[in-house]
This record gives sequence, C-alpha cells and structure tokens, in this order.
Amino acid sequence: MAASTLIPLPTTAPSAPARPADPILAAAAADLANARPEDILRWAVREYHPRLLMATAFGAEGCCLIHMLAEIEPNVTVINLETGYQFPETLELRERIKAKYGIEVVYIRPELSVVDYELEHGGALYEHRPDQCCHDRKVLPLRAAMAHYDPLAWVSAIRADQTDNRATNAGVVQWDAKFNVVKVNPLLRWTKKDVWGFIAKHDVPYNPLHDQNYASIGCWPCTRAVLPGEDDRAGRWAGKVKKECGLHVVEHSQGSGI
Ligand code: SF4
Repeated sequence: MAASTLIPLPTTAPSAPARPADPILAAAAADLANARPEDILRWAVREYHPRLLMATAFGAEGCCLIHMLAEIEPNVTVINLETGYQFPETLELRERIKAKYGIEVVYIRPELSVVDYELEHGGALYEHRPDQCCHDRKVLPLRAAMAHYDPLAWVSAIRADQTDNRATNAGVVQWDAKFNVVKVNPLLRWTKKDVWGFIAKHDVPYNPLHDQNYASIGCWPCTRAVLPGEDDRAGRWAGKVKKECGLHVVEHSQGSGI
C-alpha cells in the first residue's frame, strides 16, 4: 500500500535510470498499441513494479486507472501534485478513493505554501504567469517526486483526443525525456465515452464537479465549467493560449523525445 504521509521532497534533479534501447521501447509500444488499458497496466506492473509510479490529478481517467490498479497491484505508489489550489471536491475524492480501494494517494507538495508563494511573488502568479506557476507547483514537485521514488516508469492517464499535443506526440509506451523515465499511457486510445462507460459499469468514484459541466478539472483558479458546444479543455486556462500544465509536453533531448 502506498504511504499516506506527506513527505518533504528535495528539489534535486532525478537520477537517470538506464534508458531502455529504442527498439525495446518501440517493440513494447507496437505490442501494446491496441491492447486494453488493463493489459497495458498489467504489462507495466510486470515490467517495472516496485519501481513504477502513477501520478493522478483525480480526473475521471485517473480514477479508472486507480480502479484497475486496485485489482492488478494496489501497492503501486500513486501520487497527486497538491498545488494548494485544488478544489475541495478533489481533495475529498482522495478520501473516497482511499475508503473504497484502500489506496492512499500520496500528496506531493511544492516547496512553498500558497501563502508564502504568493507573498514571494507579490500576488497570484496564475493570473499573469501561469506557465511559471505550473512549473513551480507541478513540474518541479513531480521532478522531486521522481528523485525521491526513483521509478523506472510512470503511468499517466492522458488520452490522445484531449489535446493536439497529446494526439501528435504521445504513445502508449514512450521515453519521457523530461523526467528520464519510461512513460506509460494506458488510456491513450480511450475516448471520453469509454471512460464514463467504465465508471458507470464499475461504480468508480469521480469528482462531483463533472456533474456541473466541469469536463477537465485542475486547480480552481484555472478551471471553469464548459459551455454547450465547447471542447472539454476549454475550461482549463480559459482565455489563455495555455492548454497544458507542462507535465505532458515533450522535451527533446539529444535527438530523443517521444
Ligand atoms: S493550474 Fe493554475 S493554479 Fe494550478 S499550478 Fe497551474 S497556473 Fe498555478
């Protein structure tokens, strides 16, 4: 079972595990291209557990993966980047998941509390410099978590049809040059309908904000409900060009990338 404590994490760079040879990753990606999410997750557990880490923002997709992990391997460490700006409904969902599955999602917090962070920057950075805010409160903490847990692979709940970047660059199994680990995206080929069909079929806990037209849920200052006809990401950083928090954006390194 994952630990429930809030661990202070260093902001040091992660160690660099040996990168699997490109043909090995490519073969795995090809084998799993049309596999069911449960089978992709099972493969990841077989290959990498106990050095497998999952990150979730408690979106509907992440809740599906937690349900699957509870059946496949509930001891995989699952983390949440607790920016200090998450909705109360999101934090409460963590408790419902713990009660239902016995999986305690570990909060990973930034170095500075919201109060100290806003004091340091003379106000709320999300208003004018959301990229910096996401970097400080999501990317750096995830990097620190990588250094702490030293995984060989991490699991994310992204779907290809959520953003152009994901559709273009994400693979079911790929090298993540940003964090120097293998990244596994079991739900990449799923649609929104697949996600909600799974939730209904298995009675998976989900964020009640989804019932109020919040299609994609992040931090409260940067999330609003979507209007009829808008796409699901329209409620994230509404009015800004920003569409990604930076965790899933590809970084190319020495010709590599995803
Ligand atoms: S989503 Fe908004 S509040 Fe959350 S870390 Fe990014 S900019 Fe800051």
